[in-house]
Amino acid sequence: MKIEWEKATDEAVQHLQALLRINTTNPPGNEREAADYLADVLSAEGYDPVVLESAPLRGNVVVRYRGSGEDPPLLLLSHLDVVPAEPEHWQHDPFGGKLVDGMIWGRGALDMKSIVVMQLMTMLLLKREETQLARDVIFAATADEEMGGKYGAGFLVDQHLDLIQAEHALSEFGGFPVDLGGRRVYLCQVAEKGICWVRMRARGRPGHGSMPHQDNATVKLAEAVAKLGRVDLPFHRTDAVTEMFEGMASSLGGIPGAGLRLLLNPALSPPLLRLLLGNHPFASYFHALLHNTVSPTVLRAGNKTNVIPSEAEVELDGRILPGQSLETFLAEVQAVVGPGFEFEPIEIAPPVETTSRTPLFATMAEVLERHDPGVAVVPMVMVGGTDAKHLARAGIPCYGFSPMCLPPEIDFLGMVHGHNERIPIEALAFGVRVLYEVVEAYCSRGTEDH
Ligand SMILES: [Zn+2]
Repeated sequence: MKIEWEKATDEAVQHLQALLRINTTNPPGNEREAADYLADVLSAEGYDPVVLESAPLRGNVVVRYRGSGEDPPLLLLSHLDVVPAEPEHWQHDPFGGKLVDGMIWGRGALDMKSIVVMQLMTMLLLKREETQLARDVIFAATADEEMGGKYGAGFLVDQHLDLIQAEHALSEFGGFPVDLGGRRVYLCQVAEKGICWVRMRARGRPGHGSMPHQDNATVKLAEAVAKLGRVDLPFHRTDAVTEMFEGMASSLGGIPGAGLRLLLNPALSPPLLRLLLGNHPFASYFHALLHNTVSPTVLRAGNKTNVIPSEAEVELDGRILPGQSLETFLAEVQAVVGPGFEFEPIEIAPPVETTSRTPLFATMAEVLERHDPGVAVVPMVMVGGTDAKHLARAGIPCYGFSPMCLPPEIDFLGMVHGHNERIPIEALAFGVRVLYEVVEAYCSRGTEDH
């Protein structure tokens, strides 16, 4: 049977509107209603979904399309929660799911209820087409990604791994086009930096504020914080970032491409980045791809104006590149601030890295290029964190693949978590089709070979 893509698009629009109207702002999340909605849609199609609550009202829904089992499963992972919206700054109700001038508006329209719908439509179409696959395809729409995923992907990995065990996963972040010097490039996440949140503490001699002395904890800490703001941690070139820069450089070509390659040179990169910082929109992102970074954020010291406190502390948001650890990160921080500080981990999550040299990534690139001719598909390293971290604990590599052909006026990175989040119907339709074709081509491949 030939798939009627226009009908599939209408259906996708309705599901997205329905999901956007269910308020899953996290905190508190309350994803149960959205999970039940998906379970109902899947059940009506003959599936047998399970809804699992990790805590009251924290719903996760999982379902499986069965292939022959010759090859291991593919997991489609999404999250149902969204970040808070500030309705007073929106042109349309963030929980209205309104359709205006070909755009669907709402918190989650991009991150990532539209992708929930693309993955849902893939499941529905597989069933209707009775597609013969060599692998199972697993659909998991989860709670809590925006707050770390403990009640969602983390919960599934820890307590229901048998339901989601797979060879690869597709999830956020990537598959959207960016304009790179006039060339449209689709970035697809293959790696992400690790998290090293630590508390740094200075100790000193307490005393009366009327008699200053040289051992003031607040002053020592302030000097260290200022140094961390001024001095870069050392340059590191990693495989995933090299692949990303090489990919972008060859799509750019010419002088801009050559300039991009220079950023991989340990001697030239730091001065070049310093030149770019403040001028180039990508400069701080590029900088973060080539260094472990540290941002001093929360400060605490003293509680009375006339008392010199005996300790002062700062919370550091540290992010580490693939191949780095808490130990190597702390050594770099200590080299900047000098001796005499105590460090206490607050939250640590290792970096995640996988390769783009797989048949799955090749299929993603092939299908994207077929539907958007002339574009380049480039592996991307994310400097923030996603649920890929939980999957990595279970040894499931994850690609960021949420295909959307967005027009230039829709700035994906600016709108995600920002105001007036919305998706053109056309981009949703594109995603539904591209994702289905990727899953179909990749998962049936084994069958052709045998
Ligand atoms: Zn997201």
